[in-house]
Amino acid sequence: MRQLTRGAFALPGTSLDFKTGTWRNEMPVHIHWGAPCHVACPAGEDAQAYIAKLMEGHPKQAWEILVSANPLPAVTSRVCPHFCEQACNRKHMDQPIAIHLIERYLGDEAIKHNWAYPVDAKCMDGEPVCVVGAGPAGLSAAYHLRRLGHPVTLIDALPEPGGLLRTAIPVTRLPRDVLDAEVNRLLSLGIAFRSRTALGRDVRLEDLMADHAYLFLAPGAAKSRHWSVDGAVPSDLREGLALLKEWMIVGDIPKPKSVAIHGGGNTAVDLARVMKRAGVAEVHVITASGLPGPDADPKDVLNVVPREFEQAVEEGIVFHAHRTIQRLLMRGSKMVGLEMVHLKKLPGAGGRSSRVAFEGTETVLHVEMVVPAIGEVVDAQGFENLLGSADYFKADPLGQIASSDRVLVGGDAR
Ligand code: SF4
Repeated sequence: MRQLTRGAFALPGTSLDFKTGTWRNEMPVHIHWGAPCHVACPAGEDAQAYIAKLMEGHPKQAWEILVSANPLPAVTSRVCPHFCEQACNRKHMDQPIAIHLIERYLGDEAIKHNWAYPVDAKCMDGEPVCVVGAGPAGLSAAYHLRRLGHPVTLIDALPEPGGLLRTAIPVTRLPRDVLDAEVNRLLSLGIAFRSRTALGRDVRLEDLMADHAYLFLAPGAAKSRHWSVDGAVPSDLREGLALLKEWMIVGDIPKPKSVAIHGGGNTAVDLARVMKRAGVAEVHVITASGLPGPDADPKDVLNVVPREFEQAVEEGIVFHAHRTIQRLLMRGSKMVGLEMVHLKKLPGAGGRSSRVAFEGTETVLHVEMVVPAIGEVVDAQGFENLLGSADYFKADPLGQIASSDRVLVGGDAR
C-alpha cells in the first residue's frame, strides 16, 4: 500500500489509503432540515426562534413567536410529555435544553401581563367554519382559523371549553386558573362558543354543513377501549378515564386497599397518583412499556410527562414494566388478585416487532381492584356515517377526509 507522506494529497480513487471509505468520491449535499425539537413538537413550535428572541431580552416578542404556532403554551408546557426535549441534540452531550420550562415561563408571563395575541380580532372576511370539539385540538384550530380571518363557531357537549384538559387532567398538573386564562383569551378573538351542544343529540352534522363552508372535527378520543383478560371482566369494572372524570366532577373515587392500573400513558399515571393521594394504600401500574431512564429506548418507555413519573415513584406507586395481565383471580364475583407475565419483543411480520408473553415468568399480585387505562378511541355518536366501524378518522396528512372535501379532522381523533 502506498503511504501518503506529509503534504501529499490523495487523488480520486485513492481514499482507501486513509481507511475512511470512499468519501473522496462523494459530493456533500446540503439538506435543509428542521431542528429536532421543532420536528418532534406536535404543536409545531419553533423553540429555537423564541429562545433566541428571549436571549436577546425580548420576552413578549418571544411569546409572540411561540403563539404563532401554539396558542396555549402555559397549558401544553404543563401537560405535554416534552417530545421536544426527547429529541434535543444537547442530550448527547449532557442533558436536553429544558424547552418546556422556557415555554411555561413565557406562557405564565403572558398571563401575568395580560399580553394579547398578535391577531386582528376584527377581521372576519374568510368563509365561516364550524369547529366540533373544544379540547386542545379544537381550540387550536379555532385560533388559527381566526388568525386567517375566518368567522368561527366552536361547539362542545360540555358546559365549558377545554375537553379532557378540564375533565380528566388533575388540577395538580394543570391549575384551572391557568387553563381558564389561556382559553378565555383565545375565545376573546371573536369565536362564537356554543356549549352543551352535542353532535347527534342537539345538532346534526348535515345542519352544521349547511350553515358553514367547512367543518373541522376535533372530538378527541374520549371513549375507553374495550378491555378484558382472556374474555373475563370483573362485574364491577370501572375504566380509568371514567374514574378520573368522576374525580374531577364529583370529587370522589373508589378506595380499595389495593389496586392495579393496567396501562402506560398519562391516564394510568394520573389515576395512580389520584388514588394514592385519596388513601389507597397499595397502587400498582402494570405496563407493557419500559420505564424512563438514561439507557431506556425512547420508543419503548411510558408515554408520560417525565416529572409526573418521578413524582409517582416518590409517592410510593409501584411500576411493573414490560408486563401484562394474564389471568384475573376471582373468589365468586370478588376480585382477589391477578397473574402477571413478562413481555418480550419479537420480530413480527412485515418487520414490525410485537410483544409476546414470556412463559415461566408468571407472578401473582394480590389486589382488590383492577382498572384498565389502555387508551381511548373516538366516540362515534353523531359521526356514524363518517367514521363507520373504525376507531379513528382516516384523513390525509392535512386532515382532509376522503368522503367530503369540506370536512377536516384533527387532534387525537385521527
Ligand atoms: S413541551 Fe411544548 S415545545 Fe415541547 S413538544 Fe410539548 S408542546 Fe412542543
